[in-house]
Amino acid sequence: MGLTEIRNRIAKAEAEAGRAPGAVTLIAVSKVQPLERVEAVLDQGQRIFGENRVQEAAGKWPEFKARYSGVELHLIGPLQSNKVRQAVELFDAIHSVDRVKLAHRLAELAQERGTCPALFIQVNTGEEPQKAGILPAEADDFIAQCRAMDLPVQGLMCIPPVEETPSLHFALLAKIAARNGLAGLSMGMSSDFEEAIALGATHVRVGSAIFGDRTYG
Ligand SMILES: *Cc1c(COP(=O)(O)O)cnc(C)c1O
Repeated sequence: MGLTEIRNRIAKAEAEAGRAPGAVTLIAVSKVQPLERVEAVLDQGQRIFGENRVQEAAGKWPEFKARYSGVELHLIGPLQSNKVRQAVELFDAIHSVDRVKLAHRLAELAQERGTCPALFIQVNTGEEPQKAGILPAEADDFIAQCRAMDLPVQGLMCIPPVEETPSLHFALLAKIAARNGLAGLSMGMSSDFEEAIALGATHVRVGSAIFGDRTYG
């Protein structure tokens, strides 16, 4: 596959869903990818990237940011409380806000710095014990708490359980967002981004379909 094909498929999915061209933001998920693959995608003009570890992103992005202008970085993986300062310094958006303690820390740093990355609240739509995210039944309360702290909450994010139909989870996330007046929906990955777009995704997080398989370990 590759970047051009993914962009074309996004445009087609937008049109089929009756969404405006450009309604969906593509986040190219570059975690674990060799630097030359990331560089090739930067050279093709992509500027919005997703990483799921603060440490890994800190190791490669400052140099890319110095060489390419307009890079926007999104944190899509879990954020430990002791890495929040580093995260807000490096990332333009955080998609994994999932607990009160983290929200407090973000609010503290927003006060101190006078600025805060765009935030997405992660919802554990599958209620999986091993997965991060606020439970659907607790989402309304948590969103209200974040707003009371003046945090810039843009929307919601989910990662559906691998063995379930993703559309059910996308629809649930869209419903929670709608009843809370949130416009952003970070949902859809390589295998299901078209379904996510049909159900209202504003941000799709696509890794392997752009860069090729991640070779771990
Ligand atoms: C790795 C990752 C992705 C991208 O997954 P692909 O299947 O490679 O597209 C998307 N979202 C999150 C949270 C991820 O960790």
